[in-house]
Amino acid sequence: MSRSPLAPVRLDRRQLLKLGLGAGAAGLLPLGSLQAGTLSTNARIVILGGGAAGMAMANRLSRRLAGASISLVEPREIHHYQPGWTLVASGVWLPDKTMRPNANFVPAGVTWVRQPALGIDAEQRRVSLADASVLEYDYLVVATGLQLNYHLIDGMSPDLVGTHGIGSVYASLEGATRTRDAIDAWIAKGSGKGIFTAAPTPVKCAGAPLKMTFTTLSRLEDTGHRDDFEVDFLAPGSALFSQPWVNDFVKQRFDDQGVNRRHHYRLSAIDPGARQAEFTFVGPDSEFTSHHELREAEFSQEGERRVIADYDFIHVVPPMSAPDFIRESDLIAREGPFRGEWLDVDIHTMQHNRYPEVFGIGDVIGAPINKTAASVKAQAPVVEANLLAQMQDQPLPARHNGYTSCPMITGIGKAMLVEFGYDNNLDFLPSFPFIDPRDESWAAWVMKDRMLQPAYYAVLEGQA
Ligand SMILES: Cc1cc2nc3c(=O)[nH]c(=O)nc-3n(C[C@H](O)[C@H](O)[C@H](O)COP(=O)(O)OP(=O)(O)OC[C@H]3O[C@@H](n4cnc5c(N)ncnc54)[C@H](O)[C@@H]3O)c2cc1C
Repeated sequence: MSRSPLAPVRLDRRQLLKLGLGAGAAGLLPLGSLQAGTLSTNARIVILGGGAAGMAMANRLSRRLAGASISLVEPREIHHYQPGWTLVASGVWLPDKTMRPNANFVPAGVTWVRQPALGIDAEQRRVSLADASVLEYDYLVVATGLQLNYHLIDGMSPDLVGTHGIGSVYASLEGATRTRDAIDAWIAKGSGKGIFTAAPTPVKCAGAPLKMTFTTLSRLEDTGHRDDFEVDFLAPGSALFSQPWVNDFVKQRFDDQGVNRRHHYRLSAIDPGARQAEFTFVGPDSEFTSHHELREAEFSQEGERRVIADYDFIHVVPPMSAPDFIRESDLIAREGPFRGEWLDVDIHTMQHNRYPEVFGIGDVIGAPINKTAASVKAQAPVVEANLLAQMQDQPLPARHNGYTSCPMITGIGKAMLVEFGYDNNLDFLPSFPFIDPRDESWAAWVMKDRMLQPAYYAVLEGQA
């Protein structure tokens, strides 16, 4: 249940200044420097991936290590501020605002290897690259982010985003922009059905599919004839969000805003030409909150129950996993819930469970929550401290508590600052004690809209 309606938080100038100067904002609270001082070493360190996590580690390690050979393997010239894509797809930001040259962030003294890694031989401590050369390492930091598996939805490809009423905020910056255009086209039509989906796997920014629903609802309400539009949300699980209070809040809000929820169905196929989506039943029992016009299909040949739904707009959330070359390496989890899909690390120390010279950070790791830039902010000092300790054969001093954060946009102009960790406690390490994580507020929206981006770049620079 929503504890309170939209509750504007009045901030005085000092408080606003503090927010701006703190470069803190959601998820970017200072955790404190875990270690100081420089270590002299001639170790060879390879960082795979120069996104939020890899770039933060390159900056941190280059400051802490004297004499080390640090290679950052990152094929892209442009860094994308992915948290901004939700605002692009909602028509709030222009796309250009989310791009910066990677050259702005790569620190002096770090060798930037501008090509993708294709393989890892963890026994031999070697990384193979696209040009067939090999990088040998003494220590490896895996920060490749994750892979979007659109191909696991029959008929779906990221190239379809922006065509046939298909949107997907995750696809890319271009995909987010085309998602905006597809939503615009649906709204311009003046009526029809929009279907929003969730994935049957862990995803980055688990709030993004919900945020896209909420901002679209705002836009539909702004037309003045919301009732002419039908909005469905289909999810593979009974939960819409891992943190229980937020999950209850979102479900209640969806019900209040006339969103038809249907649980235990995953998007299994799409027919763009016919604007039809097929959903496959994946749960033991389904939860219905309202009637809508999904047609029960015949049982499939495999005996699975399926539904076919017509749509005018559909928001596709693909299944996600570690990149294939990580899945095919020795570093992938071999047992437990992340088996075959995610990097095998200790979720507290960030050290690989079988190869102590390997650390993981960011979206690629197998962890129950954590696929956010806010988590990267919290993980980076832990990886820094523990990698340096490992290099000195000392016990690992730092532990990641699972900190993650989601500025849960609940409409255009309002948001909730949700922060929690492995224990799911919502009162966990609030960045701003004067903003109640259970209240929607304009202040939380302002943070998402204006303050998180500079704070994020400070993380990349290893400054926060
Ligand atoms: C739509 C959306 C909204 C989001 N909203 C938020 C939010 O509000 N708050 C928040 O905290 N987080 C949010 N996130 C999540 C956040 O962007 C990610 O969690 C964060 O970027 C993870 O950092 P990373 O370095 O692990 O992965 P990435 O930043 O994705 O970087 C991975 C890097 O690895 C590189 N790479 C991949 N394969 C290879 C290879 N084979 N060889 C070499 N390099 C490789 C890539 O080029 C990339 O640069 C959002 C994400 C999306 C998509």
